[in-house]
Amino acid sequence: MLHTIPGFDRIGEENAFAVLARATDLASQGRDIINLGIGQPDFRTPDHIVEAAVKALHDGHHGYTPANGIRPLREAVAADTLRRTGVEVSPDRVMIVPGGKVTMFSAILMFGEPGADILYPDPGFPIYRSMIEFTGANPIPIPIREENGFAFSAEETLALVTPQTRLIILNSPANPTGGVTPKVEIDKLVAGLADWPDVAILSDEIYGQMTYDGLDHVSLLTYPEIRDRLILLDGWSKTYAMTGWRMGWSIWPDALYDNMRKLAVNAWSCVNAPSQFAGLAALTGPQDSVGAMVAEFDKRRQIVVEELNKLPGVSCIVPKGAFYAFPNIRQTGFKAKALAKTMLEDEGVAIIGGPDFGILGEGYVRVSYANSAENIQRAMTRMADFLARHH
Ligand code: PLP
Repeated sequence: MLHTIPGFDRIGEENAFAVLARATDLASQGRDIINLGIGQPDFRTPDHIVEAAVKALHDGHHGYTPANGIRPLREAVAADTLRRTGVEVSPDRVMIVPGGKVTMFSAILMFGEPGADILYPDPGFPIYRSMIEFTGANPIPIPIREENGFAFSAEETLALVTPQTRLIILNSPANPTGGVTPKVEIDKLVAGLADWPDVAILSDEIYGQMTYDGLDHVSLLTYPEIRDRLILLDGWSKTYAMTGWRMGWSIWPDALYDNMRKLAVNAWSCVNAPSQFAGLAALTGPQDSVGAMVAEFDKRRQIVVEELNKLPGVSCIVPKGAFYAFPNIRQTGFKAKALAKTMLEDEGVAIIGGPDFGILGEGYVRVSYANSAENIQRAMTRMADFLARHH
């Protein structure tokens, strides 16, 4: 009998990967599957970024790099941060990591232990809760409500903070809801946290460049009063359509940076060298592909919301960020996971049941609009036909 630590009895998963596997399976059997389950842009990484990686390989960048990433890349992250947020950050606080998830994993590992509370959004990215459970800490869900436009409520969040709280996880723009938390609410939250100086904050801003309707993203970095306890999660995956490159960055408080660097030395040594050169080209090269992708997502967002609201029993608020809609399906009479399963198995449309993102996800499904407008239309027709037959 092998005795692994109890965390492995509790560790979870991301069901989006299982849905993707099943969708791929069905497609390989010849079924016409429309994938609105996926959490990644359907665009290719821009050519100049790909070419930078190829060049790095030809130039002989085949070895280890420093564990925290090559210096020019950390400097480029600092310059990009200054350009976008107006905040000056030292490259010595920047860590290059193999994907945004690794920042999340590391931060939760640093603060989670039995007896500790970690607050996380519900519905929210499922790995937050999974990792909190893995460490043995208490997962404390922060309710994210449709009536608040799926934004964080400062009041509700602060009400959950206790002397046991070690870490609060924030995410705006948000997966799975597309919710964007307004600046007034973040102001209130940060002001309230002045009473809790020993609580760390992990701000997941991986969708920070994907906001719509002229809304500006508000980075937690712009609050100097929390600088010594803020871990900022960002990266290339979504902004530059680079999910498969496994690249991300994070900005750490001085006091935690060396812990993070040592964790990297122990666990992954460094991010693969050619990807780092690709990341450098992404940040220092032309940015027009980002704007073009976001403009395309915006068009599809309008289509998906309009079509969802025509479905019997479905209502969908307008998401302000990321590339997800989170329609309320209560009036259809279906449980969310059952609807998602039937839609995939019988109708060939992959979507994700809200409960895969938390307890408050019941009654909702996540619809990703990282697919062509034409495919979104076809998927909505299939859903409309199905619901008309079953309503
Ligand atoms: N954070 C959120 C909210 C996400 O939705 C995702 C990916 O789906 C990640 C982090 C992870 O990104 P990466 O692929 O860079 O690990």
